[in-house]
Amino acid sequence: MAKKLLSIVIPSYNEEGNIENTARVVTQIMKENDIPFEIVFVNDGSSDRTWEALCRVTRDNPNAVAVDFSRNFGKEAAIFAGLRTAKGDAVVLMDCDLQHPPQTIVEMYNIWLNNDVDVVEGRKKSRGKEKGIYKAFSLWFYKLIGGSSGLDMQDASDFKLLDRAVVDSLNDMPERLTFFRAMSSWVGYRTEKVYFEVADRTEGESKWSVSSLIKYAVNSITSFTSAPLYLIMWIGIITFVISLILGVHTIVNKIIGNSAAGFSTVIILQLLTSSIIMFSLGIIGHYLAKIYEEIKKRPRFIIRSVIRNGREQSGEKDN
Ligand code: UDP
Ligand code: MG
Repeated sequence: MAKKLLSIVIPSYNEEGNIENTARVVTQIMKENDIPFEIVFVNDGSSDRTWEALCRVTRDNPNAVAVDFSRNFGKEAAIFAGLRTAKGDAVVLMDCDLQHPPQTIVEMYNIWLNNDVDVVEGRKKSRGKEKGIYKAFSLWFYKLIGGSSGLDMQDASDFKLLDRAVVDSLNDMPERLTFFRAMSSWVGYRTEKVYFEVADRTEGESKWSVSSLIKYAVNSITSFTSAPLYLIMWIGIITFVISLILGVHTIVNKIIGNSAAGFSTVIILQLLTSSIIMFSLGIIGHYLAKIYEEIKKRPRFIIRSVIRNGREQSGEKDN
């Protein structure tokens, strides 16, 4: 039986120091295990010499494919461009910094080949060298997404193997605002897990700043669940119940002759309710902005060029 082709998609942003090493390590492991493969690097508009490194790699390594974005569109866009470009019977997504151990790809491939499963997802055994606050934050974040969407997101990562059927399903999804980690769970299919230890970054630094993490978290939550909108309703119900109780209390006081509570109560209640209303408007406004972005139907990414088999080609268009 001919072995099946595996595409390894690697989003790369300012990874000039990692590209060649990652390509070499992955190529070596795939060859050792006799797996037919291609490596699809997606250069996410890097401002360093990542593209030059990719041009060198595609010249020397016939298994390497390089996709170049017209600017930085973010890791999500790079993942989806990679899924579109990949030709394999299965696709693995991994980071460029070897934090996802390439040896685990072999394990994933064998599970996929020998069992009737469509998705092999990598779960973090531990979260590597993350600070306590990040750990607490991500725990809370995945609880919220998991709880409101019914998907088990704890210790989830982007390190996954997807069968061609799953990739096609994802390619058919029309939304502009994507959250790969949740979308690849949402499509379902038979899923198996493998556990991996998050390694240290080989070279360079993490691209996430605190503000970009917060933005990512807010966008992921709102692109995947309407829970914040229901939260507004619940706050409304709770404040309504409180105001009923307070109202009855005030009327009873009036009847038995005690004067109603003072001016400061009025001010506090006024401030509280108006801030709840503005907070709620903010949440609704955020969803409105998302709807606006979706209906503009702009492409998620623009590909400047693709190098495959050492030759330049025009890129796949986003739908
Ligand atoms: N990445 C990307 N576009 C971006 C930011 C990051 O393609 O705008 C890639 C990056 O090159 C790496 C992966 O996403 O391959 C994970 O990034 P990083 O290591 O900075 O994140 P962390 O491992 O700290 O979560
Ligand atoms: Mg990393």
